[in-house]
Amino acid sequence: MILALLLALIPRIEIVAANDVRVTYRELLPRRVALDSNTRTYHFKGCPQVRQGEEWVSPAAATLRGFHRHTCVGGDEYVTKTEARAPRDSAHIGVLFIGNSLTYFNEMPKMTSAIATNERRPLLVEQVTMSGASLEDLWLQTDAPKRIWEEHWDWLPSATKSACFPSAARGAANSIGTASIQTSSVRI
Ligand SMILES: [Zn+2]
Repeated sequence: MILALLLALIPRIEIVAANDVRVTYRELLPRRVALDSNTRTYHFKGCPQVRQGEEWVSPAAATLRGFHRHTCVGGDEYVTKTEARAPRDSAHIGVLFIGNSLTYFNEMPKMTSAIATNERRPLLVEQVTMSGASLEDLWLQTDAPKRIWEEHWDWLPSATKSACFPSAARGAANSIGTASIQTSSVRI
C-alpha cells in the first residue's frame, strides 16, 4: 500500500522549460525487465546478471509468464524531449477539459462544442480524462501537463473531486499568463 502511494506520487510528465514557441519535458519511461530463461528470474536495467540478447518486457508480463524477481531493484528512468508548441490560433477558442467520468460520461466536451456551434469564434475542444481521478491524479499520472503546454488553450475547465487545481498546475498556468483562476477552471 505504501509502495503504491509512493509510486503514485512520481509524476509521469515534468515540464523542464517552456516559452511561447516550445516546451521541454521529462517523460517517465515504462519499466522493463530482462528475462533470464535459464534461472526463470527477471532483472532490472543495470543488474550485472543481465546478458545481451535477453528479451525485455514489463514486470507484470514477466510475472504472468512465471518468471520470479531477482533481488535487484530498478530506478525510474526519464527521457527528455523538446517539442514545438502549436501556433496561437485567434480564429478559435481552445478548450481543454481535464477531468474524470464527470467530464466524459455525459460527453461534456461534445456538448460544449455543440452549444457553441454558431459562435463567431468556434470552440476547439479536447480532453484529458481518467476514471475516478482527482486533479492531482490527472496531473501526476496523465500527460495533462504536456497537453496544456503543447497548445495555447484559452480555457482549462475541470470537474473532479478536488476543489481547485493543484499548486503545480496553478504554477504552470500562471507562468503562461493566467488572467484568473476560478474554482473549477483556469482561464489562460
Ligand atoms: Zn538482477
